[in-house]
Amino acid sequence: MPAEETVLVLRFSAVGDVVLTAPAIEALRAALPKARIVYAVKERLAHLLLHNPAVDEVVALRPGEGPWNYARRLRAVKPTVVLDLHGKIRSKILRALMPGVRKVVWHKRDFRDTVPVKLALRPYHSSMLFADRYHKAVEELVGRAVPRGRLRYFLGPDDVAEAERVLRAAGIDLSRPIFGLSPGANWETKRWPAERFAGLARRALAAGVQVAVQGSESEAGLGALIAQLSPGTVDLCGKLDLRALGGFIARCAAFAANDSGPMHIARALGVPTLAFFGSTDPAMFDFTGHQLLFAGVECAPCSFFGRRRCPRGHFRCMLDLDVDRAWNALEPLLRKGRLPLLSA
Ligand code: SF4
Repeated sequence: MPAEETVLVLRFSAVGDVVLTAPAIEALRAALPKARIVYAVKERLAHLLLHNPAVDEVVALRPGEGPWNYARRLRAVKPTVVLDLHGKIRSKILRALMPGVRKVVWHKRDFRDTVPVKLALRPYHSSMLFADRYHKAVEELVGRAVPRGRLRYFLGPDDVAEAERVLRAAGIDLSRPIFGLSPGANWETKRWPAERFAGLARRALAAGVQVAVQGSESEAGLGALIAQLSPGTVDLCGKLDLRALGGFIARCAAFAANDSGPMHIARALGVPTLAFFGSTDPAMFDFTGHQLLFAGVECAPCSFFGRRRCPRGHFRCMLDLDVDRAWNALEPLLRKGRLPLLSA
């Protein structure tokens, strides 16, 4: 591939999915050191990429911006190849609006999985790591096998300072360890119950660890409930923007989260992480050095992304995970210190 190549990477959302492209982008940069790598992402998520040294430029999709206008701005970077790591209707339209440019598209999952899992005929079992699928697309683009990149998240220069400002204002002592909780997730069946997060928080507080719960504004109810049920827990829901979220997670001695964007940021920062999986498949990700709780009930994983409610009504995939089990998994993580970076 000649030096003047410009690779346009498409991945617009969500937080976790964008973070998970980091190993592929690192591999792409190593394989094509002279190429220009331009990343197209939603404006509200652009910060996830702005400090990645493998990315030369970010072209952010503005709120409400139509495909014609965005395609015009993307064509202006003069891509010689489009690497579509999104693979949904939005990226399909944009690809169509860039005729004459080579396209490489990631293969999300085997189509034979999609219909039976959606119809709840059988559980989903991922045959490979999510990041491996991104990596395969990179190899297709460069036309040869290339070494895997690492799962990394690059903080901005002020991210930790901004998080520390919020933590100090909330009464956190920055000289003592902090255990971070992230009880939210986009889908209800991906959420370990808030009452159990509160039970875990009480154990940590009793062990002398400070606890702070993080979430979006829409997750304020979860944070308030946990803070109420575990007096001493600091509720940061709605107080951390994307910059400060990374800074906060980086300041945690350990982090507990559902299958969600903050969980992937924590792994990408090497923060020892306790992850709760219910209706989705943990085999999509590497938890080496971290702790994964997955009940493994016979109906799980019943979905790719999660569901609004349990189709069986018992929700055992999460309710079988009790606080004792979570504390036993968390305790060694609190003593562990920063972990080596993963490849997925
Ligand atoms: S318990 Fe319910 S939500 Fe969980 S995996 Fe089984 S069917 Fe899905």
